[in-house]
Amino acid sequence: MKNPLKYVRRNILDLTPYSTARDEYKGPLGTFLDANESPYDNGYNRYPDPAQKRLKERLSQLKGIGADRIFIGNGSDEAIDLCFRIFCRPGKDSAVAIAPSYGMYKVAAAINDVRMREVQLEEDFSLSDEKLFGSVDSSTRLLWLCSPNNPSGNCFGHEQIKHIIERFDGMVVLDEAYADFAPEQSMLPLLGHYPNLIILQTLSKAWGMAGLRLGLGFADARIVDLFSRVKYPYNINVVTQRIVLEQLDKGIEEQVREICAQREKIADELKKCPAVEKVYPSSANFVLVKTVDADALYHSLIAGGIIVRNRSRIKGCEGCLRITVGTPAENEKMLEIVRNYRSE
Ligand SMILES: *Cc1c(COP(=O)(O)O)cnc(C)c1O
Repeated sequence: MKNPLKYVRRNILDLTPYSTARDEYKGPLGTFLDANESPYDNGYNRYPDPAQKRLKERLSQLKGIGADRIFIGNGSDEAIDLCFRIFCRPGKDSAVAIAPSYGMYKVAAAINDVRMREVQLEEDFSLSDEKLFGSVDSSTRLLWLCSPNNPSGNCFGHEQIKHIIERFDGMVVLDEAYADFAPEQSMLPLLGHYPNLIILQTLSKAWGMAGLRLGLGFADARIVDLFSRVKYPYNINVVTQRIVLEQLDKGIEEQVREICAQREKIADELKKCPAVEKVYPSSANFVLVKTVDADALYHSLIAGGIIVRNRSRIKGCEGCLRITVGTPAENEKMLEIVRNYRSE
């Protein structure tokens, strides 16, 4: 088994983290005069729990994974940025990501002055191991995969991902933001076998909490400990911690089932439209659609009050629009416009 600490920057291993008032006193409740907070209770006057203990216990139960292997971030974006800060020396180390994929990996790399090489997926959005490892060199510390992938919607097989994790001498970050919609299983149950694996999930999609900003990172407990030391001490605010705990009790099975059923319906209907050349298979809550004229169809949709994502300028997505699955009524409105679209 790989020791993931060998990929960590020296300054991070040596870091003495900020010690909050709540780190220094963990005894029974009393009169807290140790954090320069306002004593007047308005529901928000106290700092949030920097360790997010209750939330982690709840997520541990929900995900079936130890609380010491869960990092909670201000959106997945925080976890993405922390991966670069923890594993990549600015101006020295590099990262590799698949393309087309989620845009934040590249932005976070650039902000951290980390060179990022992109491995173009095949025409059907499958991934060539040979191309992937052809882009890796001795400076590569991070390898970014996204499954189901945004914007293509496809998953990579467990066998392929396992093989990549085993072969790569560095950390593999697997973004599973859309795993709740996928018939393929999450890799989470396999986390214990792969100390050089970080899995990212989020409450922004299936759980319907994009506005609260809560992203999850799952990894070896030693790596999670480093994430906790490097993060801002109070990265998840009081309101988010409170409301997420409430929302997690509601469950999402029914909504997810409906979204997946609608996804299949939209895909079938779009395939019949003359403006559509191809609908890519999707395991997420969107479909990528190759059209005869992406810009023109995009503007017709806008004229009809429907906004989709125009991905046609992205390499590998020429002619493509990415359409998020909405409510049945919203989807019908979108389909009506695509059905009636006639190119000049
Ligand atoms: C939407 C999305 C996320 C979620 O990001 P948050 O910061 O958690 O809202 C992460 N990864 C991918 C690939 C996404 O498409």
